[in-house]
This record gives sequence, C-alpha cells and structure tokens, in this order.
Amino acid sequence: MSGTGKTVQVLNQNEGLLFEQSSPGKIGYQLPPLDVPEVDPKVLGAGNARAGIEDFPEVSEVEVIRHFTRLSTWNYGIDLGLFPLGSCTMKYNPRVNELVARTEGLAWAHPYQPEDLSQGAMEITAQLERAIGEITGMESVTLQPAAGAHGEMTGILLIRSYLEKQGNPRKIVLVPDSAHGTNPATAAMVGYEVRTLKSNDKGMVDPSTLEAAMSEDVAAFMVTNPNTVGVFEENIAQIAAIVHAKGGQVYMDGANMNALVGLARPGDFGMDVMHLNLHKTMSTPHGGGGPGAGAVAARAHLEPFMPTPRLKQVNGSWTWDYSRPDTIGKVRAFYGNFGVLVRALSYIMAHGGPGLRTATMDALLNANYLRKRLEPYFDLPYQSPSMHEVVFSHSRQEKKGAKTMDIAKRLIDYGFHPYTTAFPMIVPGAMMIEPTETEPKQELDLFVDAMVAIAKEIETDPAFVLKAPYNTRVSRVDETMAARKPILRWRAPSPQSRAAD
Ligand SMILES: *Cc1c(COP(=O)(O)O)cnc(C)c1O
Repeated sequence: MSGTGKTVQVLNQNEGLLFEQSSPGKIGYQLPPLDVPEVDPKVLGAGNARAGIEDFPEVSEVEVIRHFTRLSTWNYGIDLGLFPLGSCTMKYNPRVNELVARTEGLAWAHPYQPEDLSQGAMEITAQLERAIGEITGMESVTLQPAAGAHGEMTGILLIRSYLEKQGNPRKIVLVPDSAHGTNPATAAMVGYEVRTLKSNDKGMVDPSTLEAAMSEDVAAFMVTNPNTVGVFEENIAQIAAIVHAKGGQVYMDGANMNALVGLARPGDFGMDVMHLNLHKTMSTPHGGGGPGAGAVAARAHLEPFMPTPRLKQVNGSWTWDYSRPDTIGKVRAFYGNFGVLVRALSYIMAHGGPGLRTATMDALLNANYLRKRLEPYFDLPYQSPSMHEVVFSHSRQEKKGAKTMDIAKRLIDYGFHPYTTAFPMIVPGAMMIEPTETEPKQELDLFVDAMVAIAKEIETDPAFVLKAPYNTRVSRVDETMAARKPILRWRAPSPQSRAAD
C-alpha cells in the first residue's frame, strides 16, 4: 500500500463468532449406519446421558475450517514479516530447531522417566548449560526458570541466600531508571526496597551517582547491558567494582544478550549473575506467557545456592542431585521447559561459535542501518553508539499532534507489526526498534519506506494518522479497559434479545 490513505475492504474480516454461525441440526460429520447392537443409554447411568449441549455451536465442516483459517490470517507473526518490537528480540525461529525438537525420543520423553532412560535428555541439558556458561563467562548455569522475569527472581534469590549465609541479606536493590519494569518488581518480590538511579545525558549509569547511592545496606545493583536505550554501558567494569567494593552483587538483565554473544562475556566484565531469555537470544518461540526459558548463569561463589536438582555425573552416568544444603530450592516443576531447551541448543550448535558471533554482528549492523536511514525523519534522543536496537522519540511528530502510539498503529496499515512504544520510560514518546539479525535488507528497506511515508503523512495530514489503523477488523481498542475489565466469556443472547433481532 502506498501512503495515499486508501483502504481496502476485506469482507472476511466481518467473521462472526462460531456461536453466531450456529443453526440447529447442522453437523460437521456423517457416521455410517450402526452395524452393532445399540446400547441402552441407561447402561451408562441415565444421569450421564445427554441429548445435547446447550448453546454449543452447530456448524458444518466447511464452516469450522473457514472460521479457524480466517482467524489464522488475522495473526501477525515472524513468518509473515518484520517484527521490530524492541527489547523483545523477535527473531526468526529456524526450522532446524523444530526438526530436532521433534526427534521421537525427545518429543515423547516424560519427566517421570527413570534416569537410566533419560541419559540423552540429561546430556542435552548438560551441554546447553556448558554452552551458556561459555557464552556468558560464568561457571554455573540453571535452566529451570520459565522466563526472563522468573530468571531475575531466581538470580536475586541466589544473591539473597549468598548474603544471608554471610550473616546479612541487606535491604536495598538499586535499579537505574532505564530498567525494564520486571527488575524493580523482582527486587520487591524478593523482599528488597528498590531505589532508582537517574541515568546521565548519554543514557547510561553514572558511576558517581552509583557511588553516592552505594552502601553496605545495598544487596545488589540490577543493570541491563546493553541497556534499554540500546547502548553499551561504557563504565560497566567500574560499575561492578563500585558495587563489589561495598560487598554488593551485580545482577545483569541479559535480555539484550543478542548484542553480545560471541563479542563480550558478562562474567569477564564483572557481572555476578544474569539471565538469558532463550526465547529472545536463542531463537526459541515466544508465546503468550510461554513457552519460554530464562536460563540463569552465575559465578562460582553463587553455585551452592542454585535451584535443585542439579545435574551430576557419577561413574559416567548423569544423575539429579537433590541433596544440596544451601540451595534456594526448586523454582519450577521438573527441570525447565525441556522442549525449548532442545531448540536453544540446536540453534547454538547449528551456528557454532563463529556463526553466533556473525549473527551478533549482523544484529548490530541491521539496527545501525535502520538508525542511519531513519535519523533524518525521527528524533534520536541519545547520540551514543547503538548496539542491536535503536530508540527514537516522537518529539518531531508530536508537534503535529501524532504520538508514538499513532505512528505504531499506522504501521499496521503498512503491513508491519508495531515497534515497542513508550518504553524505555526515560525517553518520552519512545519508539524502540529492534530488527534482529534475521531480517534481509529488502525487508528493512520496506520498513524504512513505511516509516518515512508515515512521517510524511504526519506533515501533510496528521488527523488521518490519528485514526489508524484502517485495514484491521477493529481499529483502536481501549487498552485500559481491555486490561482492567476483560470480557473473557461468550454468553448466549437472552431469548428476549433473540426475539428482537
Ligand atoms: C523481555 C525482557 C524481560 C522479561 O523477560 P520475560 O521472558 O518476558 O519474562 C526483562 N528485561 C528486559 C530488558 C526484557 O527485554
């Protein structure tokens, strides 16, 4: 579509609910005539015999197939196009991961299977732990946590247990104002008071601000690196030294590890513990609340506190070790999201070390290509060099009345998933764009064309952009109401309202 503002009416977007397509007596199957004696329903207990299910939709096969196929075409996914959601690292999920995960012995493995039948699965787990240890520069890895935020909680619990063992769990966790919301939430959940540090004019942590806030009451400093502005904390080693000098620990939110794999190791620049979002960096699927994996890597001094069970090799065989006196305990049922772990290891092994490094370089190149091409049209609040994502602000477009959310909504009409809006919070009107390494240049150019066209629309007809999107079934929804008062259940219209129809 060009920027003319013309929209296309798509009729099948008027799709109703399956319930609304129902008419009595329609069925989606035909059974052959009965050739065995019919059983009296009373044999099963008369109370269990049902004549039908009230308000259950009665539809034909073609109606069912069309209904769900149409719904599937309303989805936007990474297999359809660029998904530039910053911080989320929405990279393409290579099919080789799926192929490996479907290996019969892996797909059908059961967590209650005895250890002697699980040696292969345990070896895979051990190999992934070793690979993540190597990538992060850390001695100890757990694959139990089910997501990044869950990994954060595991990591801060490790720090708490470690400090407790030394006699004092301490009271405070310091978090920069650029942090993801899960960081302060995690610290609070683990029982710490959260103090926020203001970033400097480069969008970075200021060592002198940190030094002033640091005391022997501070348990940990939680830092994302590269941070959520997409820039590398250039004083990271000094930051770690300041925290360690007062006996504190540094937690690194590794959600942005896509910018570092193969180039720099957090263990080498002074981080004590971190998580990786395998569903971001290691190309495993994201999903609504899962399936994810928030692997946690830690330096050796935190190893005794790692969640149980831990993998241990005895006489050449793997076994799960539950007898670890200082452990924080289990953080998840069984051993983690095993199917996701298989995909992550498959990704790592398919690339190998040099391949992973190239992927990182490509991620940096793609983000900087977008930065360069979009800079003439959008305001760049921080001039520091970009890593794997670039954060613009809407300040130029806002003068015409269009905000980051309006631009994001209009992108949908151009066939792209929106970028991340309004985060990080230190950038008013943030437009956070992360292309990832998996995007070809042609796709990036299409995205640039769309962004430039929208910038021009805002110059000439901002009111038009404020009502976007036009090409979707519903345009703007009340996001607050959707979160606060979701309607999660369909109810059959009452007979009165049916009569009125
Ligand atoms: C995605 C993300 C998280 C949370 O990870 P989940 O896997 O969604 O729980 C935390 N911090 C940052 C910076 C992130 O981008």
